Amino acid sequence: MNVRIQFIAIIIMVGLFAQCKQSQPMAVETGVSKTLADYRKQNISNVVYALHFDIPEKVLDDIKGKETIRFNLADTNHDLQIDFREASDHIKKINCNKQSVAYQFKNEHIVIPRKYLKQGENTIAIDFIAGNTSLNRNDEYLYTLLVPDRARTVFPCFDQPNLKAKFQLKLSIPSVWIAVANGAVLKKEPNANKTVYQFAMTKKIPTYLFGFVAGKFQSVTRQYKGKSYTMYHRENNVAKVDNNVNAIFQQLFQSLDWMEQYTGIPYPFRKYDFIAIPSFQYGGMEHIGATLYRASSLFLDKNPTQNQLLRRANLIAHETSHMWFGDLVTMRWFDQVWLKEVFANYLADKITNPYFPKMNHRLKFLMAHYPSSYHVDRTMGANPINQKLANLKDAGSVYGRIIYHKSPIVMRMLEGITGEQNFQKGLQIYLKKYSYSNASWEDLIAILDQLTPTDLKEWSRNWVDKAGRATVGLMLQQKNGKITNLTIQQKDSKGNDGAWNQKLQLVLGYKHGNKKIDVITNQSACLVKEAEGLPVPNFIICNGNANGYGYFQLDKQSKVYLLKHCYQINNELLRGVAWINLYENLYERNITGVNFVKAIVLQLNKESNTLVFSQMLSYLKSAYWLFLSTSQRNSIAKEVEGKLYQLLQKEQNLGRKLSLLLSLSNIAISAEMNAKLYAIWKHKTEIGKLHLSEKTLTVIACNLAIQLPRKSKEIIDTQINRISNSDRKKRLQFIAPALSDDTSVRKAFFESLSDAKNREHEPWVTTALRYLNHPTRQKEALNYLPKSLDLLEEVKFTGDIFFPYDWLNACFYSHQSAEAGRITRHFLDQHTDYPTDLRLKILQNADFVLR
Ligand SMILES: [Zn+2]
Repeated sequence: MNVRIQFIAIIIMVGLFAQCKQSQPMAVETGVSKTLADYRKQNISNVVYALHFDIPEKVLDDIKGKETIRFNLADTNHDLQIDFREASDHIKKINCNKQSVAYQFKNEHIVIPRKYLKQGENTIAIDFIAGNTSLNRNDEYLYTLLVPDRARTVFPCFDQPNLKAKFQLKLSIPSVWIAVANGAVLKKEPNANKTVYQFAMTKKIPTYLFGFVAGKFQSVTRQYKGKSYTMYHRENNVAKVDNNVNAIFQQLFQSLDWMEQYTGIPYPFRKYDFIAIPSFQYGGMEHIGATLYRASSLFLDKNPTQNQLLRRANLIAHETSHMWFGDLVTMRWFDQVWLKEVFANYLADKITNPYFPKMNHRLKFLMAHYPSSYHVDRTMGANPINQKLANLKDAGSVYGRIIYHKSPIVMRMLEGITGEQNFQKGLQIYLKKYSYSNASWEDLIAILDQLTPTDLKEWSRNWVDKAGRATVGLMLQQKNGKITNLTIQQKDSKGNDGAWNQKLQLVLGYKHGNKKIDVITNQSACLVKEAEGLPVPNFIICNGNANGYGYFQLDKQSKVYLLKHCYQINNELLRGVAWINLYENLYERNITGVNFVKAIVLQLNKESNTLVFSQMLSYLKSAYWLFLSTSQRNSIAKEVEGKLYQLLQKEQNLGRKLSLLLSLSNIAISAEMNAKLYAIWKHKTEIGKLHLSEKTLTVIACNLAIQLPRKSKEIIDTQINRISNSDRKKRLQFIAPALSDDTSVRKAFFESLSDAKNREHEPWVTTALRYLNHPTRQKEALNYLPKSLDLLEEVKFTGDIFFPYDWLNACFYSHQSAEAGRITRHFLDQHTDYPTDLRLKILQNADFVLR
């Protein structure tokens, strides 16, 4: 008895104390702020969601949801905020610890007053209507895609990656459908014209990896080492499934075996099923136990190329690597989403490359990552790999070229420093230590730092926390044709502190064989002693092993030589490096546009490697439109067009032939060449055995519509009529006004983009914007720039994660004028408190006109 009274007294005192302790009420902000997430992480633990969704057959009917959230609370100093990004009428009923709650709904949060809460275990039950934003509902199926912060659009939750929770899911679905989720099916029960699926409770997973798929699907199951694996799909072409299914499972099993062996950790979850989704937004998404893939990436057409096969193998390996990197160990916050992406990519290469021995993987890595990464890193808007993220609602802005392209380069550098074995050992320790939990890049670096003498923290401060790149130049003194002094000079391109130390390989090019010298650049000036006394070479390339990162300024002699003789370099990897360096020297105004374009035209037919060849064509297009004035372009056009047309006739390789045709169509401005292209488009002229697909003909038609304004209507109307697929027809109909010869039609189309409804098909919008801002219409396009900038915040709010960048990229596409720079500067000056993420994206895309 006594004990009981004392106990009650203590509870009352604790309660009073807790009330006295109440600090400032926590702000209820839109999105999920870092402050809220940090507070919840400290205060909330052992979260279990029991969810039940009742899915109707009709796509427009509501999905009713019931949910119980159980969790432990360390203190009750603040009201509890549960994230739910939906209209208030979607919440039907809330109970907290069996009491009905007078809750508040504010700024995408259900706020439960602290008086309903208690220390220790709490249970909140919510009846709601699920939000449709991220349910991807179709007539015969639906699937969730909740990354990065979209779980809160479907059901009320604590939507942050470091509050991992167990999920217990129940789905009621139409009887003719099937359902797949993170956990295995425990039981299936018929109920009227529905089936109720009860899934096994998951292990602790973050909200963004919770997922399910329901609908009409077929399945294929395979056994491997005593376990079942099932693929679900909607492909009705039986032969297509048969042709691919073995290879898909084989790749999956190979990837699983490799990852288990490399990490020393058996597959960390209970099952691995996967679903091929038609027109899936991404290549894949690593939902535990229910991984999603784009169907067309798995089911390849007959006789696929080596490249297609490699891409598929890589995709399966990428998603499988995520089961360890991202799913087992998750980043603490979405600012380091790059961490899971970089490992998935990096290990996928290790898994698949050995199966494609004929490919030059180092050249592929170079071309895949360096040009894209420099595209951002050379600008004033460059962002570091490690970024700041104050609110998850902005998590989309963290994604971009630096994450996808610079981080693999930096990761390879890290492995170079630690050595392969230590790198693997470090990753094993990291995975073990943080299993089913969260970890940051700093946690990993702390582990690797123990395994190597190099100061990795210092290295990471420069390569991961700092934006931009180094400028690396050469100082060469000579006497009687011999080198007397060769010094590498380096500085930060933007004059920021910190050293871009790296290991470079200098290649000194001679007529009979090249001389390689390894140099560690760890000072602003590094003397290359080994070069003293050597004959003066034809050229020097500082990043000869294709590992170096930066702007490698070419000296005068190397520049002149490479512009004429790149093709004479035997090593294709070194040729790739040389062309990237030449383009960066063009961009930094160390080479003129005319010289660069002439160099490509001169050497294109001598380039045997297809990867280098494609990169040259891509550089040709941007140099032609950006780095030539109108009069320069007019005077050089015939020569460039003629050369490309001649190569197009001669080329035997159909892939290269197609690239040549599309490039020619992109750059052709002369009446004669456009007449020839018109004949090709009309099928009056054949180009060898090259088959012109609907997609190719549409691109040519669009370019012709701009170059031949008087025929534009006829061309586009004809092309629309030619298209049989209704989705693709709608696309061209949407773009058509941007190609009109009537200025007022183009203007009205641009105005229509102010309405978010007209921006729903984002890839259509960016294509149309590129035509509106075509270099030949720059003057008119200047009128669109201010409004395009004004709309940016709204574009971010209503669009998907990649849209703001793509929008700007299309709007600034080939603007060259000082006036465009003035408009942009004026906008930035007028908006001093503009969101930093968007400001950087403007600086990245307007870089050319701001210089
Ligand atoms: Zn990924």
